Amino acid sequence: MNKEQVRRSLWAHAAAMGGAVVFDEPLAKYNTFFAGGTAFSVYSPSCGVELGSLVAYLIGNGIQYMVIGKGSNLLFKDIYYDKVFILLEHENFKRMTVSGKILISGAGAKLSSLITFSAKNGLSGFEGLAGIPGTLGGALINNASNKCAVSENLLSVKVINRDGAVEVIQKEKAEFSYRRSSLRETIILEAEFLMESKLSSEIRERIKMTFIEKLLKQPLEERTLGCVFKNPAGNFLPAGKLLENAGLKGARVGGALISGKHANFIVNSGGASSDDVARLMGVAGDKVFKMFGVELEPEIEIIG
Ligand SMILES: Cc1cc2nc3c(=O)[nH]c(=O)nc-3n(C[C@H](O)[C@H](O)[C@H](O)COP(=O)(O)OP(=O)(O)OC[C@H]3O[C@@H](n4cnc5c(N)ncnc54)[C@H](O)[C@@H]3O)c2cc1C
Repeated sequence: MNKEQVRRSLWAHAAAMGGAVVFDEPLAKYNTFFAGGTAFSVYSPSCGVELGSLVAYLIGNGIQYMVIGKGSNLLFKDIYYDKVFILLEHENFKRMTVSGKILISGAGAKLSSLITFSAKNGLSGFEGLAGIPGTLGGALINNASNKCAVSENLLSVKVINRDGAVEVIQKEKAEFSYRRSSLRETIILEAEFLMESKLSSEIRERIKMTFIEKLLKQPLEERTLGCVFKNPAGNFLPAGKLLENAGLKGARVGGALISGKHANFIVNSGGASSDDVARLMGVAGDKVFKMFGVELEPEIEIIG
């Protein structure tokens, strides 16, 4: 199938099923660093059925695809991506329900909305994630964590697996570790959590404390992708401290700048390209290796 045929099929699919599709989209609109090249297509299905048939079509025709959340951990290169990016931003992917201590949320829900929703319902367990941007889907894929990890209270996830089939995976059948989960090959549709009952006021207080602590240390107000490097395993200082001790605060390549507030954050100070970020990461990684013998690994996902 040529490009024009795929384009027409995706238009027809979205028109028939209620979704939205755009072509030749600037990816800067889809990540929190506001950089990156162009996507062949960005498709936002209106429901799970539409998503399922879209994925079946893409798999069947050998078309590459990738789900994106808020792009708060994604560095898109300054290139043309011959891919279909899928967004779960329709309300149908953001539903949250509570039954007793069981909370179920769509993967497209923002983590911040989920945290507010659980506090309102007197359900504790997400307070330690306050201030982390992005969606629940992205958080589960990366096992996002701060004072707690998103996987801690997880019971199960509903996914579309690699064969395009809907499957419920119990937590015991999945693996979660530092910024990693075995769910990466799937599309997460929703997740079920077992929470703890507490007073809403207590929960809100903990959310506030976590958020303030994070805000004091990290440049949450800037355009960034969060921590650029993972903390090294073993008996080493955290990546941010190594970068700071290497004198890298304020280092810059083009519009990409190492934050003066937290050295593990690269800020888009204006017009930064992805290439600026990649080169600055190279400079910073080399300096840390030369000074401390530690090889830093990226925490952000560089999309190839
Ligand atoms: C200011 C700032 C602070 C941050 N602080 C933290 C922190 O304290 N702790 C932390 O862990 N992270 C932190 N991050 C990183 C980031 O916010 C998290 O990794 C977040 O969970 C990513 O969510 P997202 O929706 O933006 O995912 P994206 O960045 O859009 O995607 C991340 C990955 O998830 C996949 N994905 C997204 N949704 C789905 C889905 N439904 N199904 C399957 N795959 C999916 C994508 O394909 C991609 O591989 C921070 C980032 C910023 C900008």
